[in-house]
Parts: sequence; structure tokens; C-alpha cells
Amino acid sequence: MMFAPVSEIFCSVQGEGSYVGVRQAFVRFVGCNLNCSYCDTLQKSRDYCRFEKDPGTGVFETLTNPLTVKMVEDMIRSFKNIHSVSLTGGEPLLHADFISRLHTSAPIYLESNMTLPQMAKKIKDRVSYVAGDVKLMEEFEGEDFESHLDRTIECFRILKTTKKRDCFCKIVVTTNTVPDDVIGIVSTISNYVSSVVLQPVNHSQKTASTKFLLDLQEYLFDKIDTRIIPQTHKMWGCL
Ligand code: SF4
Repeated sequence: MMFAPVSEIFCSVQGEGSYVGVRQAFVRFVGCNLNCSYCDTLQKSRDYCRFEKDPGTGVFETLTNPLTVKMVEDMIRSFKNIHSVSLTGGEPLLHADFISRLHTSAPIYLESNMTLPQMAKKIKDRVSYVAGDVKLMEEFEGEDFESHLDRTIECFRILKTTKKRDCFCKIVVTTNTVPDDVIGIVSTISNYVSSVVLQPVNHSQKTASTKFLLDLQEYLFDKIDTRIIPQTHKMWGCL
């Protein structure tokens, strides 16, 4: 039997990226292979998963971790009228074997840091939407940025937009962001993604100026549809 540690399962609306506002079931896996400075999600395993059965109430049941595939499927099935099932984290691709066994009636929406290409291969045909991050040099905490970038590009190639899958890329923009770095990576992956979302960080001291963001968007328009979308769920305090 397959198990995975999950920190939360709930129903809400997508707060980031091209599908902002759609209603989703969220499955938030525990654990990540990166260590970003701005990370705000639980990365260490914990012994329980909280399940908000009734959306928006803030009332949670707790289940002992790790969970089975069937437990996760049953919780997802309890949510009505969802556009898709967001698999998020942490890094959901760490649990690719678990995901490959997960069956849901709503399509799968993968939120990934796009650095685990071997895992991406395992689930590429199960995923209908991909919200893929690009981590730039300024925010990268590891030792080998070049290899990190190669793995990112390979993940976008594997999970690229097709007739059956929409893949877009999300780039967190701060006062440290170097436009040439963004333009370089977007040029490399522009054939793999349907759009680029520039996501201004919600931290006042590091928030890039409006002019900076609009100039960057203008440069990128030459290559691809580019949108500026902040994290909306933090504005109204939903999960
Ligand atoms: S990839 Fe996401 S979950 Fe992982 S450390 Fe970075 S921000 Fe946190």
C-alpha cells in the first residue's frame, strides 16, 4: 500500500497564477527538496494531516500521517463543483509514485518547483495543469545553480503545454530580481509554457516597484503572454 505525508486537505480557490479564482480541492504534501528564503509552507513531516471538511469554516478534523491513496481520494471526493485538484506542498513531485496511483474525477493541477525531472516523467500524463516555478539565482539557496537551472528547464520540457495539458510558469519578483536573468530563462522555456506570471512578493521591503514590473512585462511581451499577479489569497485571508 502506498502512503504519503500530507499537511492539509481543504477546498478553496486558487490564489496565484493564471487560474486565480477557480475553486479547487487542495492536497498539501509535506517535504521539499529546496530551501527558499521566502518559503512559508510546512516542510518537515508532522504526525497529522488537518482536513477542513466544510470549506471556509476553519474547523478541521485531524488524521494520522502518513495517509493512504484511498484516504486522500475520499476526502477530495467530498468537495463539490471543483475545477481541479491542486497538488501542492512542499514539493508534490517528491510523492510522484503516490500521485500516479491517485484517481480523481476532477483534473490534476500540479504546483511544482520544477527541479525533479525524473519524478515529473512518472506523472506527466496524469496532469492537466502545471503551475511551475522558476527560482532565480538571487533566491536560490543551494550550491549548484547551473544544475538547478538545467533541471528546471528539463522539467518544463517534460511537463510542457500540449493539447491535453496547460503549463505556465510563475516567477517571484523582488527588489533583487535581475531582468536579464528573467529574460534569459523565459527565452529558453517560452516554447514549453502558455504564459508567464510575474508574482510580486508580498513583503513591503522587498516588493519591486510598479515601474520595474511593468518594464519587465513589456520586455517579455516580445516572447510570450506575461501577466503580473500577486498572491490574492493572502489579501482576503483564505487558505
Ligand atoms: S520550493 Fe516552495 S516549498 Fe520548497 S522551499 Fe521553496 S518555497 Fe518552500
